[in-house]
Amino acid sequence: MENLKSTDREMENIFKMENLKSNDAEVYDILQKELKRQQDNIELIASENLSSKSILEAQGSVFTNKYAEGYPGKRYYGGCQFADEIESLAIQRAKKTFNAKFANVQPHAGTQANFSVFFALLSPGDTILGLNLSQGGHLTHGSPVSVCGKWFNAISYNVDENGFVKYDEIEKLAKEHKPKLIISGGSAYSRIWNWQKINDIAKSVGAYHLSDIAHYAGLIAADLYPSPLEYADVVTATTHKTLAGGRGGFVLTNNEEIIKKINSAVFPGTQGGPLMHSIAAKAVTFGQTLKPEFKIYQKQVLSNAKKLSEVLSQNGIKIITGGTDSHMFLADLRPLNVKGNTAQEILEAAGITLNKNSIPYDTQKPSVTSGIRIGSPAVTARGMKENEMAQIAQSIIKVLKDIDNRKNVSDVKIEMSKLCGAFPIY
Ligand SMILES: *Cc1c(COP(=O)(O)O)cnc(C)c1O
Repeated sequence: MENLKSTDREMENIFKMENLKSNDAEVYDILQKELKRQQDNIELIASENLSSKSILEAQGSVFTNKYAEGYPGKRYYGGCQFADEIESLAIQRAKKTFNAKFANVQPHAGTQANFSVFFALLSPGDTILGLNLSQGGHLTHGSPVSVCGKWFNAISYNVDENGFVKYDEIEKLAKEHKPKLIISGGSAYSRIWNWQKINDIAKSVGAYHLSDIAHYAGLIAADLYPSPLEYADVVTATTHKTLAGGRGGFVLTNNEEIIKKINSAVFPGTQGGPLMHSIAAKAVTFGQTLKPEFKIYQKQVLSNAKKLSEVLSQNGIKIITGGTDSHMFLADLRPLNVKGNTAQEILEAAGITLNKNSIPYDTQKPSVTSGIRIGSPAVTARGMKENEMAQIAQSIIKVLKDIDNRKNVSDVKIEMSKLCGAFPIY
């Protein structure tokens, strides 16, 4: 025991307000490497974006120290006056951004937002109907590997051979299986959802309608993509995708009965203490969405995605659905005879980060795939526009049309690093 006894001086060493660099060089170095990776590479992962410095500041703030189980004005801990203030501000800004009557900003991420809806509205064994994971749905829409696929009777609807949602199939499956919940929205669907149609189907069979706008939230906040708020009982989303915020999830609804159930389902139903530092970052995020510049940014996100898809398409890559109405799209690489996993790997070596993705009716395993998913939010956040998109698309073509050509890869890597240098971040 003797040698465990600490002196005041040693205690001070741990909690001394030292910076990371001098305190933990090992972690600091990894963070520096990640910063450089983000600075020097073209980021085309459709679910990623860049957080502003203000958001990083809020996310890395002293609110990380605070326990605040409960809700503003009804906490289970003392010292919550400023936690109340920041959460109320985040809620107020979220409601204003989406023109919603009610919001819960506590879900740690999109998955937790969806689980709170399941916990609020369903019982184990109930039937849910969502878009098939392999066709653009999310794990939480009923995939057999997710808890929601194991604890609910999950039925999937599909897209057609061109990649468009088949509303007649949703209607047929809804009539046949009488789900308690129908989920709209997805992770790899580039077109506009007909929220009203899905709501009509849900109402005709007595089901709830959950619209998951994790991917489209930023576009919706900027009025550049239809809002599901008046056509869904409940809406879930993330702050870190097109919304360009810190990592997190949130729930919106116009229905007072439902928000009461959601609030209990988030806490104490499925979460403990809220991440107050993330909620502070969410407040900054929703503050950002309310500024006029945010709309200009989102317009450019749309134009950039369009430009990328056009140039790829002109050069022999097949775009699923033939184009995009959003920040992203799926590209079918079969015309180039390249698999998704190979493309992801070789493009990463060339300084372009994106992900392999199954295309509708893919015959390749999910670990291989015939396609890639491409998104414009992060490159647009750096300030890049149509000309840069054309250059990036041409570079993708150059690498994928001749995948054994190592020189192409190293040439493109240098070009992409130069391009990033012209649009510096952080
Ligand atoms: C990203 C996403 C989510 C949530 O993902 P998290 O990683 O848990 O934040 C939920 N639904 C859809 C459709 C998504 O694309």
